[in-house]
Amino acid sequence: MNILFVSSEVEPFSKTGGLADVSGALPKALQALGHDVRVVTPQYRNVDVKKHILHLADGIGEITQSIGDKTTSASIMISSIGKGAEETPVYFIANKYYFDRDGLYSDTNRNADYPDNDERFIFFSKVALELCKRINFRPHIIHCNDWQSALICPYLKLFYAQDSFFAKTKTVFTIHNLAYQGVFGKNAFENTGLPNWTYDREFLEFYGCINFMKAGIVFADAITTVSKRYAEEICSSEEFGNKLEGLLRKRKNVLFGILNGIDTTIWNPAVDKLIPARFDMYNLEAKYKNKESLIKSFRLPHRWNVPIIGIISRLVDQKGFDIIAGMAHTLLQHNVQMIILGSGEPKYERMFSELQKSFGDKVGVYLGFNNEMAHLIEAGSDMFLMPSKYEPCGLNQMYSLKYGTVPIVRATGGLDDTIENVSENGETGTGFKFWNYTSGDLYNTIMRALAFYQYRPDVWRYIVLRGMAKDYSWEKSARDYEQLYKMVLLH
Ligand code: ADP
Repeated sequence: MNILFVSSEVEPFSKTGGLADVSGALPKALQALGHDVRVVTPQYRNVDVKKHILHLADGIGEITQSIGDKTTSASIMISSIGKGAEETPVYFIANKYYFDRDGLYSDTNRNADYPDNDERFIFFSKVALELCKRINFRPHIIHCNDWQSALICPYLKLFYAQDSFFAKTKTVFTIHNLAYQGVFGKNAFENTGLPNWTYDREFLEFYGCINFMKAGIVFADAITTVSKRYAEEICSSEEFGNKLEGLLRKRKNVLFGILNGIDTTIWNPAVDKLIPARFDMYNLEAKYKNKESLIKSFRLPHRWNVPIIGIISRLVDQKGFDIIAGMAHTLLQHNVQMIILGSGEPKYERMFSELQKSFGDKVGVYLGFNNEMAHLIEAGSDMFLMPSKYEPCGLNQMYSLKYGTVPIVRATGGLDDTIENVSENGETGTGFKFWNYTSGDLYNTIMRALAFYQYRPDVWRYIVLRGMAKDYSWEKSARDYEQLYKMVLLH
């Protein structure tokens, strides 16, 4: 199969969250299954051209597109991800005006979206389709991801309906997070170039605005989201469906939940070059060298039998920081240390800075985005906290399992699908789960984990080992996508 994978962020080139991890891994796993996969993404300012040897793609020239009354051209750069049978070309859409900026979607403080995000990603979507023709790549499947590439679905159906080049092409649209829908004022509709009849609540119109994600859901041949549980949740109520639940219920016959995997060439303590000491299930002791290193990095005092609870996250409401705030002071009266790596909303940055001031010997905080630090925290922590209000899939809990860092999670979305609650006697289960979104339940669950850690170290060791033995690599998920693509092509 020829598969065009379109994504607004791809690890290792650009990243704000889990979408990048998926886009840097799933295409490789599909390529390894024998498909011809090409990835398309914007060339932002921070893409490291030298390190990743980006070069002008031969013989393509400029691709020109009109958006509203602007006519703009893109040049196409190329690089790749993966090695050997996994090697997959990545095409970069380069346009200084739209993409040569510090942030991906917003100013670097991440609180103000760029006002022309509609234009930027309309341009991206249109160029991605034309690129197929320029490189003579006839995709069977165009796999679009989140609102930034959602418009490809109506473009293909409406602009290229008569074009024999795309006669066999179907679209799959993956929702990585329904909370980010790409909603723009009505004036953005003109920019899309779509026919007027699509400005209708059955199609793109959304409470007097337009909604790019809705375009993907309406026009894609199949829709996926990143866990089975989240697929059910987004159809169930406005709380999860963010006002698209009705439409999603209508499309339920083509909506599937496929769990993300983890890239075990990157997130694997046995080969991870970013951590001081490599380890696996048979050499767990080496994990504690990483703990020492982590403690040193955050200048915390070393204390025996005191667990480190790690957090790596975008600091946004979704991730459960309000319920952490409601119990952090009580928790920190106990024998625990917390290490937080995150960036995002100022109110949460302040909250963690203040906690650090009050509990200098127990709390370490790094405000910012730091991949190397993320690896060290996974490797050196004993527990990992993810009390999300909702979580489409979540990757860090799976990384945590692999790194022997026991996850404490709220039972929602992918967290519920991937973590098995530790039983009363500790003989089964890979992590600690709670259901009600309250500080009290979070606190009690951490206390439960703490009791095992401190008083039953032998049982704790088995909890750790059971988690490390879980296989969440991409191969299975890639096969699920392959099956889905085949099914879509039959219809
Ligand atoms: P989301 O996509 O909602 O942000 P995921 O758990 O799916 O959540 O993926 C988050 C990814 O981003 C993980 O790879 C995580 O390690 C990484 N990440 C999040 N915040 C930071 C940070 N401040 N520094 C480094 N990596 C981060």
